[in-house]
Amino acid sequence: MSRDEAAPVAAVPVGVGEAGYPVLVGRGLRARCPQLLEEYAPGHRYAVISDDHVAELYGRSTMEACRVAGLDARLFTFPEGETSKSRDRWASLTDDLLEAGVRRDGVVVAVGGGVTGDLAGFVAATYLRGIPVVQVPTSLVAMIDASVGGKTGVDVPAGKNLVGAFHPPRVVIADPETISTLPETERAEGLAEALKHGAVLDRSYFERLADEASVLLAGDPDATFAAVLRSVELKARVVGEDERETGLRQILNFGHTLGHALEAASSYSLGHGSAVAAGMVLEAALGERLGITEPGTRETLLETLSRFGLGRIPGESYDLDAVLGYLQADKKVRAGRPRYVLLERIGATHEKGGWSHEVPDAAVRAVLEEALQ
Ligand code: NAD
Repeated sequence: MSRDEAAPVAAVPVGVGEAGYPVLVGRGLRARCPQLLEEYAPGHRYAVISDDHVAELYGRSTMEACRVAGLDARLFTFPEGETSKSRDRWASLTDDLLEAGVRRDGVVVAVGGGVTGDLAGFVAATYLRGIPVVQVPTSLVAMIDASVGGKTGVDVPAGKNLVGAFHPPRVVIADPETISTLPETERAEGLAEALKHGAVLDRSYFERLADEASVLLAGDPDATFAAVLRSVELKARVVGEDERETGLRQILNFGHTLGHALEAASSYSLGHGSAVAAGMVLEAALGERLGITEPGTRETLLETLSRFGLGRIPGESYDLDAVLGYLQADKKVRAGRPRYVLLERIGATHEKGGWSHEVPDAAVRAVLEEALQ
């Protein structure tokens, strides 16, 4: 484990009162896990949960560091990949914890990407009616997005994330140095969400990300630290105001309505970040078509996203009717109608009449027809 004593640690508060927690971001911070666990989530036994890939990179060493510090820690692993975000895996992990004697004074420590955070978080949310969880995100998707906001859950045959719970962590421990081992394509997947944060809330952040595309893709730790911090600040502000997504939090779904439909239509071969990136371009085109989004926004998004290898999909591989069908299955459907977050311009969403909007089917069809030629 590396540790840079001089590296700054930023603490971003999320929420207020009892449900509030800090997101700590710092280079080398993972080395301080044992002390931070004792400080923020004192427990009798720590269940460190990682996928089998991240376990060998970071999970086992985190568990061992806890033991050296005198904590009772055990490692629980599961096969890497989205297919593990399942009821079956939730069941086997909860059985493993019962067998290992983890009690109400136990704490789950999720060390890994968004799959680990969602799955281990859901285990913690339901185990003995709920025990604390600490999130130690190791992928950019998890640092920038999944570990902040308290959403946990699993996928079911009817769709992704359809069974779950809000279970805010006691603390999030984000160490940008773990990004050095993340493959570049996975970095791009996470940076798509960072670009989305800029697109909906902060134009200058969006432009900074665009300028730093190559260093961010290369995993530069200082650029990564700055991006993680800004994204966490923006997401914390939003979920602090609206944890349950009844209002402002909906803006974080920009690009997600069409993105999710594309992801499902690709049978999940398209990564989530890539799908959201393509969804942002399409939803900007939709906004322009409806006269809500400033002309040229779609082009700016596409040009910036392409610096990260994002934004375009092989249109000919998608079936228009299948994509339209998946739109109806979206979680954001209200009264049978899909909802869209629309930009006014980069850095600002259209808020008249609510945070998300119904749009004419014909406009959606026209945008998709153009993209899927
Ligand atoms: P993931 O956890 O599967 O990680 C992607 C891959 O990277 C895996 O192979 C993993 O083993 C590997 N990996 C992780 N960290 C690594 C590291 N430091 N070095 C090398 N390899 C590493 O997936 P993800 O992309 O991190 O997250 C996607 C998941 O997050 C999806 O299930 C999505 O639904 C969920 N998500 C949840 C929220 C939320 O609010 N709860 C938000 C966004 C995404």
